[in-house]
Amino acid sequence: MNNTTKKYQNNFIGQIINKDFKEDDKLSLHTRFPPEPNGYLHIGHAKSICLNFELAKIYNGKCNLRFDDTNPLKENIKYINAIQEDINWLGYKWHNNIHYSSEYFSKLYKYAKELIKKGLAYVDQLTKEQIREYRGTLKKPGKNSPYRDRTIQENIELFQKMKKGEFSEGEACLRAKIDMESPFIIMRDPVIYRIIFTKHHQTKKEWCIYPMYDFAHCLSDSIEGITHSLCTLEFQDNKFLYNWILKNTSVEKHPKQYEFSRLNLEFCILSKRKLSILIKKNVIKGWDDPRIPTLSGLKRKGYTPSSIRSFCEKIGITKQNSLIEFSMLEHCIRKELNKTAIRTMAVLEPIKIFLYNLDENHREIFTVPNHPKKPELGTHEILFTNIVYIDRSDFKEKYNKKYKKLKLGGEIRLRYAYVIKAEKIEKDKYDNIIQITCYCDINTLGKKSKNNKNPSVIHWISIKNVFPAEFRIYNHLFNIKNPEREKNFISYINPNSLIIKMGFIEKKVGKKIIKKIGETFFQFERIGYFCLDNIDSEKNKLVFNRTVGLRDLWNPEK
Ligand code: ATP
Ligand code: MG
Repeated sequence: MNNTTKKYQNNFIGQIINKDFKEDDKLSLHTRFPPEPNGYLHIGHAKSICLNFELAKIYNGKCNLRFDDTNPLKENIKYINAIQEDINWLGYKWHNNIHYSSEYFSKLYKYAKELIKKGLAYVDQLTKEQIREYRGTLKKPGKNSPYRDRTIQENIELFQKMKKGEFSEGEACLRAKIDMESPFIIMRDPVIYRIIFTKHHQTKKEWCIYPMYDFAHCLSDSIEGITHSLCTLEFQDNKFLYNWILKNTSVEKHPKQYEFSRLNLEFCILSKRKLSILIKKNVIKGWDDPRIPTLSGLKRKGYTPSSIRSFCEKIGITKQNSLIEFSMLEHCIRKELNKTAIRTMAVLEPIKIFLYNLDENHREIFTVPNHPKKPELGTHEILFTNIVYIDRSDFKEKYNKKYKKLKLGGEIRLRYAYVIKAEKIEKDKYDNIIQITCYCDINTLGKKSKNNKNPSVIHWISIKNVFPAEFRIYNHLFNIKNPEREKNFISYINPNSLIIKMGFIEKKVGKKIIKKIGETFFQFERIGYFCLDNIDSEKNKLVFNRTVGLRDLWNPEK
């Protein structure tokens, strides 16, 4: 049994399923993932996807993909396509065809009529506001609508009228007749059908009445033969209605609902509604902006499907709500990229180093490893000449005692090459350093320098070996840990969530990328893990997104 299997079998849902199998040897596990096509999938959905699909895999069962499309006002075909792509990208395959709740509209209509005929549903004509008012609160019981005691015949006719479009939106709705004094507000005669005159992406103009989520969901589960309907904790009370509907209609199968806690992730917003506000207000560039935890955003940032699956496995499935550390997600991708990413040098903010004691035609080629611990990943060649670029942050004019990088009169080693000593700086009229003149100690290739036994090592690129690149450094989008809790979450946007640097990568690496040869995930030495941005890169300027920094801040013992 592999670790993933163990992990999913041992959580509380796995244990329930194990027990169900013991009690019923004919059981065939059938789960489903039911997204509402009103936005892109995010890492929270990934938690649910992994759970449903992994369980199906472990128990030789099936997992359906069903679009929960009961609200044509918010849904869009572009989300339907994006959701399928993301699930495939994560590495999962749903059972047979895709399903839609809308597929069952005729059946659902029949079940609604069945409830009416049993005296368990009625057409209400209170306004939306009145319905809310009559519903009561947690402390105050609700009161009956004056339309509650209509005859069955009257209700059948009115429901028919609703279907034919003879009422306007909001003028009538169908409600289940349960108990206006129930301690569970969801059971106080919930609305189960409403009127919407908007064209539906699947059923077009066939319907102008639409079932509510609670009515459609349990019946769709039953029609599809779902055995275990897994959802998040906020649906705990809805379970009463879920079971009530199944009990009072003539469905054959009665799936069971189990709830687990939602994923909340530090510094992130997961609600699709709030994410779409960020897009509308141009705070972020779209659903695939690498600063948001949508699957397409994470993908663009350089996360791999396996790193996301591994994260979902690590966080586990429980009934306790918690806020997961962002560094745990980073730990998962870093662990993977540390093993696989090709090491190469990049300079994000170039500053020229002039090695005055070398000839202007000086050329040396060094063969360097692609990965320090994996010789099987091969080597590549780098060019060394009398002028190289280093990163501006590796030189300081003013420094304290702890400072270890390059300074005037100080030495440093150029990675894989020589020790150099800074002797002079040149500035432009704005007081910016434009060049550092250095002495190159040519006796230090693979050998120690005489003066400084252990100089720091910095990355560099020869001025004759550069390919222009834009580097996008991402930081948290919010500057508070739990923005989801804040009503005014937009006021906590981190102004430094994206920092852009214009620099260089090694020429051969750039040329290979353009010819689509080899890897697009890199560790730029000393800087971090980066991946190519396929969308914004151009032939003469490559764009790289920083996936994650080098240091692991996640500590499971903390
Ligand atoms: P959102 O608030 O992001 O719009 P939602 O619950 O409305 O989320 P749906 O498309 O209805 O989104 O969700 C599909 C499935 O994914 C549901 O079963 C839901 O419980 C699950 N899901 C959504 N968000 C999370 C989350 N943060 N953690 C775990 N599961 C989630
Ligand atoms: Mg929803």
